[in-house]
Amino acid sequence: PKYQSVALVLGVTGIVGNSLAEILPLADTPGGPWKVYGVARRPRPAWNADHPVEYIQCDLSDPHQTHSQLSQLTDVTHVFYVTWASKPTEAENCEVNGNMFRNLLDAVIPNAPNLQHICLQTGRKHYLGPVEMLGKVEPHEPPFHEDLPRLDVPNFYYTLEDILFEEVKKKEGLTWSVHRPSVIFGFSPYSLMNIVGSLCIYAAICKHEGKKLRFTGSRGAWNGYWDVSDADLIAEHQIWAAVDPYAKNEAFNCSNGDVFKWKHLFRVLAEQFKLEIEDVGEEGGSEASLEEMMKDKGPVWDEIVQEKGLAPTKLEEVGNWWFVDILFGVETSLDSMNKSKEHGFVGFRNSKTSFLTWIDRMKSQRLVP
Ligand code: NDP
Repeated sequence: PKYQSVALVLGVTGIVGNSLAEILPLADTPGGPWKVYGVARRPRPAWNADHPVEYIQCDLSDPHQTHSQLSQLTDVTHVFYVTWASKPTEAENCEVNGNMFRNLLDAVIPNAPNLQHICLQTGRKHYLGPVEMLGKVEPHEPPFHEDLPRLDVPNFYYTLEDILFEEVKKKEGLTWSVHRPSVIFGFSPYSLMNIVGSLCIYAAICKHEGKKLRFTGSRGAWNGYWDVSDADLIAEHQIWAAVDPYAKNEAFNCSNGDVFKWKHLFRVLAEQFKLEIEDVGEEGGSEASLEEMMKDKGPVWDEIVQEKGLAPTKLEEVGNWWFVDILFGVETSLDSMNKSKEHGFVGFRNSKTSFLTWIDRMKSQRLVP
């Protein structure tokens, strides 16, 4: 056959989906040459269209649509599940996300005879608890490692894992891996949680209004140690797990392998947008809400887009302020990459370089000036 492996990427325009779409088709990608199917609901955006992927519009929350569209893909060998739905309560998250994942597996497992492996992406909230429980449940103590027990609260990540464990039993030899990134540095204007993109938009608005760049988070977040996960690194990690026999049937953390402080990355952000940083004092931290500060800025953003000839976007789509507000309340969040290394994955990223790379991508795709 022309292809050695056939990938099905669910959420191909998302922050990791877009990286998978870029990396899987490359000539030197392990397991290749890869044929790639990519799924999302909206029509394919221009910034995703260069990747050699067969694009399929399908809503995974609709069981009939999912069955009719995806049961036809009988040549799929590997599934990359990098999508989710955000609901107001964790009970709804469990139900809706569980249904989406089940719809997908019901369409693919019985109909793709060569299916070998399923990669499921969850995240750090496996150890911290769902957003609605932050501050209400005692999280695990960082650095988080994969063997920590589940927290005793509903979490859609646990729901997805349990469905996965149940469903892989239906096919002899079918393997799985779970990937738990920290906050992701990547590119996608369609992502529900994109911190680099949101910070670029915020910086562009500050520049337009002649203001200084203000760190809106807590003192702890300004001074504390953080780790993040580069979207390309997560894609490499998932491809490694899909292909390498030593990575089967395990959950893995996935982070860059270094630490940084926001007080340093904010300097980088300010330089990239030629801004001055508002002095937050030695101690740092201003504890403002970006969601609050940005709530009337829609028309300002439209004006910037118009004036600078940017790719058309709406502020409420590309500025994920609620997400940034939550993150900038977090003092320290670190995991351990020991398990990945012990199983043979030694990939890493320099987080400052990663930050700069994705800022550059925001500019080169004309999302920000
Ligand atoms: P994104 O929000 O970046 O992307 C979601 C993708 O899925 C998009 O392509 C979207 O396109 C598509 N999609 C959404 N709903 C549907 C649907 N009903 N049917 C088909 N496609 C759909 O995803 P992430 O990578 O951020 O999220 C994946 C997992 O990673 C989640 O569990 C998340 O919690 C976790 N995570 C994310 C982090 C981050 O910083 N982003 C950090 C750590 C973990 P369209 O809208 O057009 O359908």
